[in-house]
Amino acid sequence: MTIGILGGGQLGRMLALAGYPLGMNFRAMDTSPEAVTSHLSDFHHSDFSNEDDLLRFASGVDVVTFEFENVPVEAVRLLEERKPVRPGSRALEVAQDRLEEKRFFRSIDIPTADFRAVDSEEDLRRAVKELGYPAVLKTRRFGYDGKGQALLSGEEDITAAWKQLGGNPLILEEFISFDREFSVIAARSPSGAFVSYPLAENMHRHGILNRTICPSPHANDALGASARESIHRAMWELDYVGVLAIEFFAADGSLIANEMAPRVHNSGHWSIDGALTSQFENHLRAIANLPLGDTAPRSYSVMDNIIGTIPDVRSALAIPRARVHLYGKTPLPGRKLGHITSIAPDAETALNTADEIRRRCGMPKLG
Ligand code: AMP
Repeated sequence: MTIGILGGGQLGRMLALAGYPLGMNFRAMDTSPEAVTSHLSDFHHSDFSNEDDLLRFASGVDVVTFEFENVPVEAVRLLEERKPVRPGSRALEVAQDRLEEKRFFRSIDIPTADFRAVDSEEDLRRAVKELGYPAVLKTRRFGYDGKGQALLSGEEDITAAWKQLGGNPLILEEFISFDREFSVIAARSPSGAFVSYPLAENMHRHGILNRTICPSPHANDALGASARESIHRAMWELDYVGVLAIEFFAADGSLIANEMAPRVHNSGHWSIDGALTSQFENHLRAIANLPLGDTAPRSYSVMDNIIGTIPDVRSALAIPRARVHLYGKTPLPGRKLGHITSIAPDAETALNTADEIRRRCGMPKLG
């Protein structure tokens, strides 16, 4: 079976790594000739807008998926006329626009921060009056890893925020003073079979995920069940096939959805080493209509992203509980270059191991 992946970054690469043992082959398309899935696939270099390129890409693949959410919806629609595309254009369309995403969550009773659409400076002034300070102004589209966001702490910030982001369709969100951030990842197959991973706890810095702990030592059964019910509802509503992730803020003991990713997700990378079936394998199983794999954790996992520069990986490899993954990308500030997962039978040992790895490898301190 040949899987076509739109996007050729590390997520595509890890999908391919998970799929080869299942006898799958991969074709990937990306706008960059250096995309790292190219090392592991029949690689097509294109900007997704050329119909001939898309048709050539689709010919001979059994199913198409995507590994980043800024793939043009039109490209996915074109491919959908010819091949199964999983998940499909509807999920992609909703996830590409923070306003549509929040409306979608609310339409299926998943709580979100209060929000307003902002298309002019006047809208912004009205919206902050209604939501109060602090508030977060975000671009509706193409924002990721905290890019395209401005925090408004008072009236004096309005002009600068508008200067920074004005001209794009925007959303103003109430600032959530959260205790922790969690995410849930689930997979659904075409027949509706559903599995979910335990609640993961995430630590961000400057909007970029730095660390995931899974299962979260701070999640209780009620939070886990609430996340699971939410993602099940979202998948059902979208007739979703594949892996979906939803990120939440936890405040006052309940979950508030921030965003969803219609793909495998950074907060699920722990599952390669820490779960019976990784998120990558379950995504492939789901889109290939194969039975889904057990999501049970083998251990506690702490996953730390390698960001910007490659640390002294040799030191990490000398630690028995460390699993190192490098993506083959050229180092650049803020770029995700790999991750290291520390696995242990209890959360405390996994956390201590992860901290020791950071120290020994010379990775920057968290927090
Ligand atoms: P996002 O790009 O929406 O995932 O935001 C990146 C990070 O910014 C989140 O993980 C939070 O740490 C923070 N953030 C985003 N939106 C809000 C909000 N409405 N209230 C508080 N923090 C936020």
